[in-house]
Amino acid sequence: MTAQPDQQAPSLNRRKVGDYVVTYLSDGYLDGSFDYLQGITPGEAEQMLTDAHRPPLAHISIASYILQGKGRTVLVDAGTGGFNGWGGRFPVALAAAGVAPEDVDTILVSHGHVDHVGGLTLHGKPVFPKAEVVVNATELDFWRNDTIMASVGDDAKPFFVAARTAFDAYNDRLKPVASGGVLPGVTLVPLPGHTPGHSGFRIEGGSTGPDLLIWTDITHMADIQIARPEVTIGFDVDQDQARATRMRVFDQVASERLAVAGMHLNMPGFMTLERRGHGYAKVDMPWTSALL
Ligand SMILES: [Zn+2]
Repeated sequence: MTAQPDQQAPSLNRRKVGDYVVTYLSDGYLDGSFDYLQGITPGEAEQMLTDAHRPPLAHISIASYILQGKGRTVLVDAGTGGFNGWGGRFPVALAAAGVAPEDVDTILVSHGHVDHVGGLTLHGKPVFPKAEVVVNATELDFWRNDTIMASVGDDAKPFFVAARTAFDAYNDRLKPVASGGVLPGVTLVPLPGHTPGHSGFRIEGGSTGPDLLIWTDITHMADIQIARPEVTIGFDVDQDQARATRMRVFDQVASERLAVAGMHLNMPGFMTLERRGHGYAKVDMPWTSALL
């Protein structure tokens, strides 16, 4: 007899995108609240999930991605590190993917929120001993700005401490960048609003299919915000800019027929969008038994 499991199995999903194999790694979830959302009532949000045959829970999935190709092993974000009891499954997923921390040569950081950089350190020390850390310079400046940190409320200060802990641990290996190419076939795409230097990464699809846009935190509750793009979340540093950026990215994804990955998408972790009404519809790219 075995004990009945009380959590999900390590959750991975892979796709080929151009020269890379891209793996979705689940860090688990955080137990949120519909009260975080703005532009929709909690009752409406719950009803949307019920109508979509989803559990009417305000769970926010947390994920990161690995790119392997061109002789590189690249991590895009690293989950929460268990901060505040959120997520914490990233190390299990990384091991299940067959990647050891010392294998990682590059880390692309989407932004400084703890659910993306918490897993970069353990007790303040780097988890990835050989990796260079690529981050949007605007984002780095934001979290390291003492004036901004002094101006925020006590509830926001732990987020500054967490971001600084991660960046400081890799200080001698930090590579601040602006937009543009960061690796062969990979460009950093500024997507400001959620945070000032919030960034996505676009990977050339080449002969394998469409380009993949890792859009990071363009959605937090995809089952709600894709149909209702105007809905923002309390974590957005600039609500109006976050909304405008989301609208622009949705339009771009639908127009260019891009594939999408995101750090708050559930499995399968890859999808695209179709226009529907005044919003969009999410079209998941299902898990395939062959690596395609
Ligand atoms: Zn996030």
